[in-house]
Amino acid sequence: MAYLLPAFAELFPEADVRLQAALGDLQEIDAAVCWMPPRGLLARMPELKLIQSIAAGIDHITADPGLPAVPVCRMVDPDMAAGMAAYVCWAVTNRQRHMYGYVASAAERQWREQPVEAPGAHRVGIAGLGALGVRCALALRAIGYRVSGWSRGPKSGLPADIALFHGDAQRAAFLAGCDTLVCLLPYTPETHGILDAGCYDRLPRGAHLVNVGRGAHVVEADLLRALDSGQLGYATLDTFTEEPLPADHPYWTHPRILVTPHIASRTPARAIARQTRANLAQIILGNAAAVAVDPAKGY
Ligand code: NDP
Repeated sequence: MAYLLPAFAELFPEADVRLQAALGDLQEIDAAVCWMPPRGLLARMPELKLIQSIAAGIDHITADPGLPAVPVCRMVDPDMAAGMAAYVCWAVTNRQRHMYGYVASAAERQWREQPVEAPGAHRVGIAGLGALGVRCALALRAIGYRVSGWSRGPKSGLPADIALFHGDAQRAAFLAGCDTLVCLLPYTPETHGILDAGCYDRLPRGAHLVNVGRGAHVVEADLLRALDSGQLGYATLDTFTEEPLPADHPYWTHPRILVTPHIASRTPARAIARQTRANLAQIILGNAAAVAVDPAKGY
């Protein structure tokens, strides 16, 4: 977390910022800026008013069974959303335009052409139409892909040619139209293991899975079975139940899995400093912070 210090010094200069190794008197801590805090640590801060995630997700924080009843805020930032859109567009194009195959061919100095299909012939579905999912949907649409999205509740305000689905009742219909399925869901009890055999079986045969949500969205044995049977054609995976992904994990050597090391997007340090300051100021004034997590929904 030392990388945050210059941004806090610039944008939150009145804060006395302490790193985890030198927190000093825990009674003096007003706000905890964290990703995966040691379990029980936050409960020992009696004056804590804000738990600020450095990321869009808060599942590593709420996994603490002793989490104090203090507002938890997550990051929403245009640069983070743009970074995610860049990754997702790359992942979709990499598979749909056979780019990963050209990398292999080039290494062998082989001129091997693959079919060139227009983006408009390819349907991309985004599970999770939040701050990041919407940005990805718009970016894919701008390229020319046929885009759909699935959320928990109904959505509005998106271009009419983005097909919208919501809730469990519309999940099967959504999945049936995904040549590529992009998972941008938060990790909650409801979404644990949501990328399972039942999901893969509903996708068109040979579909591509892009998981930029959380590793625990995926049922690993079901994913490997679906790839081996051809029901899934390819998987681009950025997040894993255990990170770093262990060296002996079957994903590394699977011919139809591409692993990236949880780099789809990052939150700029300056945005973390700015939002921590703004959220703490609102909470001290007795107001709700702008991007506080809804404890009932868990995201
Ligand atoms: P948001 O909270 O803004 O959006 C979440 C979306 O998921 C909403 O559309 C929500 O529906 C939907 N959703 C939640 N639960 C369900 C459910 N049970 N069924 C259907 N839809 C559901 O999150 P963000 O867009 O900011 O971030 C999404 C996730 O991306 C993060 O939680 C994190 O896991 C992941 N992430 C990964 C990164 C990486 O580098 N790989 C970087 C940053 C984030 P509704 O709109 O109805 O509420």
